[in-house]
Amino acid sequence: MLGEGILKGLAETARNFAGSFVSAERLTTVEYPEQRIAPIEATRDFPFLVYDGTDPEAGLRCVACQICEKECPPKCIYIVKSTDKKPDYVGKLQIYPARFDIDISVCMSCQICVEVCPFEAIKMDTDRFGGLLYDKKELSKSNEHYHAIHPTEAAEVDARLAEEKAKGEAKAKAAAAAALAKAAAPAAATPVPKPAAPAATVPAVKPAEGESKP
Ligand code: SF4
Ligand code: SF4
Repeated sequence: MLGEGILKGLAETARNFAGSFVSAERLTTVEYPEQRIAPIEATRDFPFLVYDGTDPEAGLRCVACQICEKECPPKCIYIVKSTDKKPDYVGKLQIYPARFDIDISVCMSCQICVEVCPFEAIKMDTDRFGGLLYDKKELSKSNEHYHAIHPTEAAEVDARLAEEKAKGEAKAKAAAAAALAKAAAPAAATPVPKPAAPAATVPAVKPAEGESKP
């Protein structure tokens, strides 16, 4: 039939259009940030070191072989080998990383470190933003640091804060002086009571002429 393909296409489009509003698996958006879609398993952001058990030091699988450090394309892994050994997960004495740093600002999440590690010791994390959440301790830096990185701006801020502080202190001083003056004022302003005036004599009312006395 002429146009049958067009009709089928339109029907399919209509089915998909309606389905995208009602079919849970086809709803592509959620009420973010109250709802969040779990990242798919293959998501990768930055690497982490795997440890077994509950102690990250004792259970770390990494044996500081430095293969990942050598293979990392942008060279953002920095490892220092330990001078002693500790038992690995099978009890065999192994060297471990005394230091293992990854410069996350350089890491490009290529996963090569994961692929070359023979010890299943390094894997890709999925929670990029969890790792980028700084707490109060990590966020706190001194005013000296602020001066070191933004000297002009920090000097202006310091001058403004000092001026505001001086104004606040002057205001507080004036308020205290006013309160003292107010406290002293009632004693000086209390009026001295006047002696009572003598009682006024009421003049006798003369009876009008022709008016008889009672
Ligand atoms: S993911 Fe790639 S860039 Fe990042 S540390 Fe591993 S090898 Fe280096
Ligand atoms: S390749 Fe694996 S075991 Fe070797 S240093 Fe890197 S993370 Fe550690």
